[in-house]
Amino acid sequence: MRETKFIFITGGVLSSLGKGMAAASLGALLKTRGLSVTIQKLDPYINVDPGTMNPTQHGEVFVTDDGAETDLDLGHYERFLGTPLSQRNNYTTGSIYYSVISKERRGDYLGGTVQVIPHITDEIKLAICGLAENKTDVAIVEIGGTVGDIESQPFLEAIRQLRGDLGRDRCLFIHLTLVPYLAAAGEHKTKPTQHSVKELRSIGIHPDIILCRCETPVSRELKRKIALFCDVDEDAVFSSVDVNNIYKLPLEFYEEGLDQKVAIMLRLPARNAVLTAWKNLVSTLDDLKGPITIGIVGKYVALKEAYKSLHEALIHGGIANEVEVVLKYINSEDVTPNTLEDILSSLDGILVPGGFGERGVEGKILTAKHAREKGIPFFGICLGLQCAVIEFARNVAGIDGADSEEFNPDAAHKVIYLMTEWYDHHKKARVKRDKHSDKGGTMRLGAYPCTLGDGGIAFAAYGCRQISERHRHRYEVNNAYREALEKAGMSFSGLSPDGELVEMIELPGHPWFLGCQFHPEFKSNPMKPHPLFREFIRAAGRYGKRA
Ligand code: GLN
Repeated sequence: MRETKFIFITGGVLSSLGKGMAAASLGALLKTRGLSVTIQKLDPYINVDPGTMNPTQHGEVFVTDDGAETDLDLGHYERFLGTPLSQRNNYTTGSIYYSVISKERRGDYLGGTVQVIPHITDEIKLAICGLAENKTDVAIVEIGGTVGDIESQPFLEAIRQLRGDLGRDRCLFIHLTLVPYLAAAGEHKTKPTQHSVKELRSIGIHPDIILCRCETPVSRELKRKIALFCDVDEDAVFSSVDVNNIYKLPLEFYEEGLDQKVAIMLRLPARNAVLTAWKNLVSTLDDLKGPITIGIVGKYVALKEAYKSLHEALIHGGIANEVEVVLKYINSEDVTPNTLEDILSSLDGILVPGGFGERGVEGKILTAKHAREKGIPFFGICLGLQCAVIEFARNVAGIDGADSEEFNPDAAHKVIYLMTEWYDHHKKARVKRDKHSDKGGTMRLGAYPCTLGDGGIAFAAYGCRQISERHRHRYEVNNAYREALEKAGMSFSGLSPDGELVEMIELPGHPWFLGCQFHPEFKSNPMKPHPLFREFIRAAGRYGKRA
């Protein structure tokens, strides 16, 4: 019986130091040593999940196979580990309180006073220990926020207690801090790290390893100083340097010896790291041709993180074709009949991503029209597919007033509409949706199967007939218009196995025009680029070479 060991990662000094990336990279390295690894994120905010948060505030909502709407760090974890995660890999303060309050309402606490300690902390410990199972060697737990914040205190208290509950040999604390380089003084500064560790120790957590985020590697001498002031082993201070590509980080950590120290401190049954795949990846990254320019025409362009998985999946598509992919984020509200040509003319391929609400939709519809007419490779994802269908219905199938029920509930022709009944793959039953009910919980979420038809670009890309992809949407292609659209030349190249739901569309005769109702970007990773992104970039490359 294997005992799962826990690595807790906290952050100090400031946010955005790359805790998620550090957790993912360490996880990837431990995996190369033959260990089975899982990663969990504990988020201090009160939303029960990020599903209701605006992506321009908090970044994308990452969806897992089981339909959990999770923090975007889970996307990094999946891309670095190459294994699917689930709801148990992400908890928030809100979800912890929700479950404690539900228990209290049921009377589970038998009249006791419900308090942060022990009830909230017990619930957090339960969430963390849920990761321990026979087949998992290491569970990495990333605590969101910065040490010293009010919000993250219960999480820190819970992991402090866990060290006692589980024993010292099963827990390791890694603290990621900033070691800034002061150009005027010509040196790295350790004071913020010292203060942050002091803060951590004041709540009873003594870090075992200190990871220093820095622009250039921290010298041996300085590491010794940090070790002395922060009371950690001299060989337990590591640099986490800025890299020009995130997929270089695991090898950087390896060069520093981070995985070796972790394996020794936790007494892990680890073999030597097998780094061939990561080394091959880095050498491909250093030798990319190109570039190929892809335009992302969406509405959450103010924050790049809002399209994180999409961004990465396009880069992966470039890796598969050994080309550099340059992404241009275009606000769909700027795309009008007058600006269209100017904005889109320099692109080798156009992608219209997912989204919610009416704002900027006409710009996306116009973009789909332009790509269709000019033969520019076009990839429509979720709302992107819906816009392509609306455009085609209006301008090719002659369905005047075609629209989506989402933006125009009184439209004459709702070619995209809200289904009131469908087969829920997760519940294994038909479910009914009340149109007037609360919007939360009425989405088609998570992995659903899809059957591909012969002859199209989808079938050629996947090379198999049955696929499974992740969903996050409410609206669907209206079956009442399928025949008319097909007659006008649109092909429904992917359908749910019962044929009821349109999953993919194509335009035969166009160089590369594909829409999917699901989000393929969630399942791409650098070692295994997603076939649709691979083929889209390939088509964009061909288009880029046009005379
Ligand atoms: N708003 C659309 C729907 O709910 C598309 C959602 C999306 O793009 N993820 O169906």
